[in-house]
Amino acid sequence: SMNLIPLPAFTDNYIWLLHDDRHALVVDPGDAAVVLAWLAQNPQVQLDTILVTHHHADHTAGLAELPERTGATVHAPAMEKMPVAVHGVQQGDDIFWHGLRLQVLDVPGHTAGHIAFWSAMPDQSPVLFCGDTLFSGGCGRLFEGTPAQMLDSLDRLAALPDDTRVCPAHEYTLSNLKFALAVDPDNATLHAHFGVCTQLRQQGQPTLPVRLSTELAINPFLRSRSHAVAAAVRQREALAVDDVTTFAALRAWKNEFK
Ligand code: ZN
Ligand code: FE
Repeated sequence: SMNLIPLPAFTDNYIWLLHDDRHALVVDPGDAAVVLAWLAQNPQVQLDTILVTHHHADHTAGLAELPERTGATVHAPAMEKMPVAVHGVQQGDDIFWHGLRLQVLDVPGHTAGHIAFWSAMPDQSPVLFCGDTLFSGGCGRLFEGTPAQMLDSLDRLAALPDDTRVCPAHEYTLSNLKFALAVDPDNATLHAHFGVCTQLRQQGQPTLPVRLSTELAINPFLRSRSHAVAAAVRQREALAVDDVTTFAALRAWKNEFK
């Protein structure tokens, strides 16, 4: 059976690690030392695969060292420039890994070539490695893509099976949920989830992974067409009329939110 572990890195990154007690893969290794320390403590496990969602250094800096030290194969976005030679993948590609089929999804918005990886899991709920596209309670900043692209990317993630375990690359949950509460103050599920996550963080625990079904109920960026979120955006930004303008205004509101 497969074990799913978030390895904390830097101040708020997670390097997700999946292993079956013999083989491991990691996602977005921004810091090789974090992964090498885990491997040293688990010498029966061999790292053979590295997945990368996008080109930012906090997701790729470990590529200088990890493949060389472990022999692992790197699968990274075909449309982005990487610091080392990689196997480029994009929408429609599958990565077969010790009984799993990881499907590649194109999810542009945060960066132009951002990808995500989704897999069904025998006897467990599916997993989604979504990098900086979808966070719990939020979404990535639009550095290279347009609001229309990000809305489309989030729509496609939202359509995945709702028992999917969502594994974003950052622990941004509490600050995202504070914004979500400002946008969607009457959402009882959101209030309850904020309470759960506040306790987890007080105990030093990750708030992730999170069920997609939970995100669909609490994340304003997955709910920008809901009456509650759209009305809150319109109240603040009189011009927000269609879905994309509403989503763009919501993302701009979050950028300014303190
Ligand atoms: Zn990023
Ligand atoms: Fe990042």
